[in-house]
Amino acid sequence: MRASRFFISTLKEAPSDAEIVSHQLMMRAGMIKRLGSGIYTYMPMGLRVIRKVEAIVREEMNKAAAIELLMPLVQPAELWQETGRWDKMGAELMRVKDRHGRDFAIQPTSEEVITDVVRSEIKSYRQLPLNFYHIQTKFRDERRPRFGLMRGREFTMKDAYSFDRDLAGMQASYKIMFDAYVAIFTRFGLKFRAVAADNGAIGGTGSHEFHVIASTGEDAIVYCDTSDYAANMEAAEALPLAASRPAAAQALTKTSTPNATKCEAVAELLKLELSQTVKTIALTVETETDGKVAKQYFMLLLRGDHELNEVKVGKVAGLAAHRFSTEAEILEVYGCVPGYLGPIGTKAPVTVVADRTVANMADFVCGANDAGFHYTGANWGRDMAEPTIVADLRNVVAGDASPDGKGVLAIERGIEVGHVFQLGTAYSESMKATFLDENGKPAPLQMGCYGIGVTRILGAAIEQNFDDKGIIWPTSLAPFELVLCPMGMDRSEAVKEATEQLYADAQAAGIDVILDDRGLRPGGMFADWELIGVPHRVVIGDRGLKEGNLEYQGRRDTEATAVPVADIVSFIK
Ligand code: ATP
Ligand code: MG
Ligand code: MG
Ligand code: MG
Repeated sequence: MRASRFFISTLKEAPSDAEIVSHQLMMRAGMIKRLGSGIYTYMPMGLRVIRKVEAIVREEMNKAAAIELLMPLVQPAELWQETGRWDKMGAELMRVKDRHGRDFAIQPTSEEVITDVVRSEIKSYRQLPLNFYHIQTKFRDERRPRFGLMRGREFTMKDAYSFDRDLAGMQASYKIMFDAYVAIFTRFGLKFRAVAADNGAIGGTGSHEFHVIASTGEDAIVYCDTSDYAANMEAAEALPLAASRPAAAQALTKTSTPNATKCEAVAELLKLELSQTVKTIALTVETETDGKVAKQYFMLLLRGDHELNEVKVGKVAGLAAHRFSTEAEILEVYGCVPGYLGPIGTKAPVTVVADRTVANMADFVCGANDAGFHYTGANWGRDMAEPTIVADLRNVVAGDASPDGKGVLAIERGIEVGHVFQLGTAYSESMKATFLDENGKPAPLQMGCYGIGVTRILGAAIEQNFDDKGIIWPTSLAPFELVLCPMGMDRSEAVKEATEQLYADAQAAGIDVILDDRGLRPGGMFADWELIGVPHRVVIGDRGLKEGNLEYQGRRDTEATAVPVADIVSFIK
């Protein structure tokens, strides 16, 4: 590829709505272009990365004997009514009507359609096992689309569906997919963890999420370095609290159950927290001023020992009461136990050290780090706008013993990039998808489903690999592996010749190479490729050529290395 024939469009500044680094850098590098909320055009540079993700996914799925097909985007409502998901999916399911007034869903996933395919195609146990997959556009009308491709409304997913004759077969298919996922994420060159996940409403027998580890991840994952235990927060919270956990922490969890009315829960929680020297309390408060309702998020940092004098329903007296109007209703309260509970001290008034609104939450929390709270400022500011994240910390805290008795738990943040699921017969029963077993008797198919967020991978990869100059793609995902930057190709015959030769050699060696023949000044040219994140760069200039050398610089290198012209291709390979 020659840059003059390709489309490159870089920006110095990210648009103001880009909140996290991957979104900012993808916009600046010209990889995506926003069309509407959660809807993006994949620009040529971004599409190259998407295609690389897809190619790796496709290769590993094929290796695992999954079979590719392509199911429609627009799916008749009747299928979704058969499983009850037409109602259950609520507002996230995008619905359209055709000219006859018939209802259709735009697929958020394809269990219904694949089950429909299989129930008419599969007659006998002899045709099993089977695993079908497609890489297809999805639409989910997300409540809060954000972070570019990370949580889009339109996005690309690889979804696979396995069909087996019995439970053991389904578990074997699941294991094959699990291993294929490990191979895929390893080939991406990303740091990831597979964690046990809660099966939630779908039921079934087992589920794992694959998370790319990144401090900006939306999910908390709980793991243990000295054992195999790893789970997402929901799954971890489903466990009984660790016995080693202080009794007060266990009680604390109980008082914040949704059963208690909100305000009573506040009162109870505060009483308990204050008597236990818990250091931080997060509140979501709804206030009404002149008929306008606003939600505000407060973080209370409590210092020292204290006695709780007054807790009134609907209002927290003696704390940040001055910040709440009398109309204020406290919607949620989360106590964050920073790792352990300190001793109960002597009685003294409560000191509110900080109680700022969400706008200032980021710097506030940086200050709160001394109190043992270990989340980063940027993260916290966002979490407060999404209060459930704080709730993540309620039940499981870092330092809890493990469920398997082999160590203590740590909490890390992750981005869910894949999800494998043992569905069992939930869909085959509701849709009457059966096969004839060895005895000629009809039995429901045992299913599994397996998703990978193809477009989300781009965001996740960047969250893990960037610096102040831009993106640092792992070679397997980079839009181009190598960029050739000639210095004055139009002036120097020697440079032109060496560049063209290297361009041909690199292509012959199977390297995905781009030749920057745009005639830019070196500074601008280098800045573009560092922003775009191409892993290898070779500069071809007269000075080096006189000594028979080219200048090589890896994207993470701090300086260039002189490499003899004859060795450069093998050097990069
Ligand atoms: P999340 O918890 O992030 O909402 P999910 O659990 O709803 O994701 P699944 O139904 O498990 O998602 O879908 C499989 C994969 O599709 C996810 O693991 C994720 O990588 C990807 N995915 C889901 N929703 C989105 C989205 N809105 N934008 C981009 N990718 C998504
Ligand atoms: Mg979701
Ligand atoms: Mg999820
Ligand atoms: Mg999921």
